[in-house]
Amino acid sequence: MSGLPDAAAADPVLPEVVMHLHRPNDPGTARVVESRLCMAGKSASYVRHLALDVSGTEIAGRFRAGQSFGVLTPGENDKGRPHAPRLYSIASPTAGEDGNGAVLATTVKRTIDEHHDDHALFLGVASNYLCDLQVGDEVRVSGPNGKRFLLPAEQADWNYVFFATGTGIAPFRGMLGDLYQTDAPAPDRTTLVMGSPYRTDLLYDEEFTQLARAHDGLSYLTAISRETPDGVGRGQYVQDVLTSHRDHFTDLLTRPNTLVYICGIAGMELGIFQALAGSLPPEVLARFLVVDPEAAAEPGSWSRRMIHKQIKPTRRVFLEVY
Ligand code: NAP
Repeated sequence: MSGLPDAAAADPVLPEVVMHLHRPNDPGTARVVESRLCMAGKSASYVRHLALDVSGTEIAGRFRAGQSFGVLTPGENDKGRPHAPRLYSIASPTAGEDGNGAVLATTVKRTIDEHHDDHALFLGVASNYLCDLQVGDEVRVSGPNGKRFLLPAEQADWNYVFFATGTGIAPFRGMLGDLYQTDAPAPDRTTLVMGSPYRTDLLYDEEFTQLARAHDGLSYLTAISRETPDGVGRGQYVQDVLTSHRDHFTDLLTRPNTLVYICGIAGMELGIFQALAGSLPPEVLARFLVVDPEAAAEPGSWSRRMIHKQIKPTRRVFLEVY
């Protein structure tokens, strides 16, 4: 700990980042160096860890964990225009997969669905393009993008709670690399909470299990929504761990220097905010959320529309949901 002047009052300072080194109209060319499934077993989904060599682009060595990059899918949409660039979270630490920032990875889930009107098969354009790519194939990329969903500059001065659902795990894999796989001092405490429908859908499960085993301060918790020990009722959402591991989170969140990061499915942030409001004393909650007095008494009646209006996350809360 380098020591903050008044940790309970200070806000995290984010590092400067560079962005848009390649615009979509001037993309760089990356090359696939790895593509592997990253679920924890035989799952109904297909999620791939895709590693790209960006050494021939401006992005090499100049992205940070937590940022994203753009993918330009070849071909045209049904209006005859080029496909819009699609952003993917970087799943690598700032040093990349290779240690030199020349290889960045992302975590891609194939979008496979039915059209609402006629129930014909719908395949997401960019996700299936990326998942079809073979090692050696070229991809046009833009970016990096994003300057808000980052670890603070003084990483070791803070404790962290990371809430992920599904592929929202991507930036946290990178951040955990920055926190625990470099020579820099590690934080006191980090807890990663990963939410998946089934245990077999957990992403990078073995990797996080090993990392947590190797670092006393790092906890890895999972919330499985569609399985229960006895097969009855609903499983857990990520926010439910605030209750099931109450002592753990009371200790972590009442420390004066804890940050909360949320990435994944839209809607998870509301549940997390409600659970925080239900479990933290008002003076601790105020470090994370500023709540209008008339809304404060009844978190159970909060809605998503109130976020950023009556329920304002402070600068200690980092949100990337969609
Ligand atoms: P998934 O494997 O289906 O897992 C999502 C989990 O969240 C399921 O267990 C689901 O439970 C649960 N869940 C649903 N509603 C919830 C709620 N209100 N609160 C808490 N948990 C809830 O996920 P996925 O298909 O990979 O989707 C991940 C999402 O993250 C996508 O929408 C993607 O766009 C987004 N994402 C965002 C970023 C970013 O912003 N940078 C990066 C990557 C991914 P049930 O389904 O059982 O209800």
